Amino acid sequence: MSSPSPQLSVAVVGAGIAGLAAAIALSRAGHSVELYEKSRFRNETGAAIIIGPNGSRVLSKWGFHFDKAGAMDYTQMRRIKADTLEIDSEEYFTDIKDKYGDRWLLFHRADLHAGLKQLVEAQQPPTKVHLGNAVVDVDVDSGILKLSSGETVKKDLVIIADGAHSDLISRVIGRDYPVSKSPMSMYRFLKPFDRVLAHPEAGQFYHGQKSGFTTFYKTAVGRPGLLLNTYPCRGGELLYCALVHPTKPKEKGIEGWDSPAEYQDVISDAQGFHPAVQAICEDATDVKVYTQMWRDPIERLSKGKAILIGDAGHLMLPTHGQGASMALEDALALEVLFKRVTSDADVEERAQLFDELRIPRVSAVQSMSNKMMGPPDKMISEVKRYYNGPIPGPKAKTFSQEYNDFFFLYDIEKEAGKVLAG
Ligand SMILES: Cc1cc2nc3c(=O)[nH]c(=O)nc-3n(C[C@H](O)[C@H](O)[C@H](O)COP(=O)(O)OP(=O)(O)OC[C@H]3O[C@@H](n4cnc5c(N)ncnc54)[C@H](O)[C@@H]3O)c2cc1C
Repeated sequence: MSSPSPQLSVAVVGAGIAGLAAAIALSRAGHSVELYEKSRFRNETGAAIIIGPNGSRVLSKWGFHFDKAGAMDYTQMRRIKADTLEIDSEEYFTDIKDKYGDRWLLFHRADLHAGLKQLVEAQQPPTKVHLGNAVVDVDVDSGILKLSSGETVKKDLVIIADGAHSDLISRVIGRDYPVSKSPMSMYRFLKPFDRVLAHPEAGQFYHGQKSGFTTFYKTAVGRPGLLLNTYPCRGGELLYCALVHPTKPKEKGIEGWDSPAEYQDVISDAQGFHPAVQAICEDATDVKVYTQMWRDPIERLSKGKAILIGDAGHLMLPTHGQGASMALEDALALEVLFKRVTSDADVEERAQLFDELRIPRVSAVQSMSNKMMGPPDKMISEVKRYYNGPIPGPKAKTFSQEYNDFFFLYDIEKEAGKVLAG
């Protein structure tokens, strides 16, 4: 059976998690999609990512191949004092799927990215992917894009998913909006998990443990300071390690989250840890540093024919691990809101519905993620500026049931349907 002819012509700018997800969503909604990516498909190395049930529900709906992508369940979180090895807290997340309708997952980012890319390629009509072709400018009123190849194209709808350092954000909000930097940065590396397990000292933390976080704290839980967070990914082949540390003077100018870093810096920062914890960091290769970045919520995500999604629209600190799940929610919102749109005359109105739906949700999640380390009352009053539903109380901790309920019970498909119905 041939598929019905496409309705709108859509450009997606950027092929990160947000851009790929938007391409899938808008193809599924019946539109003709072209994806423009400035790189030649970056290899997403050196990092893992967690996806909450609010994000994995979106992936399930699209038939994402979780096993092929080596997805692992996030089933426990242990906090261990990094110097004395005393267990500070242990939590088990056993009934996630029953409670929230889908799984809470750990991925290697490259595997999640590759799985999304396969879904993009499987869509009919096929999405045209233009690699090494940056969008250098967008006219949000006409939908005209200028490409680095020198070409100009005109689209009915333009999805801007160009990431944290979005050059195109100013076209939507009318001003530049540089990122803010946290005083804390993160060294990130992956180790073969079997080597860690075989290590006489480092292995003790993981033997007989279910998949999840094992976090080593140098300072009191909940205070900024040195910490090593570890979790397995790629079906247990790799252990992801993220060493949070005060940003060094030489790291201050780094803007990306994939800059090479020095192994010696990891080892010297880990000096105060117990030797068994230091052993986890031993012989780390391909270390990257991420200077943590964030933005306060913006007043609009759409203008004319253009919509900002993903980090371009709502960059946040990785405190609650919700950045990519928000990008997946954005994408499913686009699928629902643009499903039966057949004329470009309706684009602007649907884009405004996107704002109505997404701004309260992403602004609340951004504020919770960016301000969690500050005074709780201040964070809560900020969240309430954007969002008037129930929210976690001031004593709730990251990954507690209160936060999980807030993030995971939200069903973007249902919420988008409600906004559409008026
Ligand atoms: C250390 C760290 C840990 C994180 N952990 C989690 C987690 O556990 N869970 C979670 O949900 N989220 C997490 N996040 C957040 C999550 O990674 C991001 O929210 C998500 O990847 C955003 O994807 P994106 O597609 O918006 O941006 P990006 O991945 O930055 O993609 C943007 C793409 O646009 C391309 N591009 C840029 N400019 C142009 C242009 N002009 N023309 C064409 N292409 C362009 C870029 O090359 C890039 O491919 C984490 C982030 C960091 C940094």
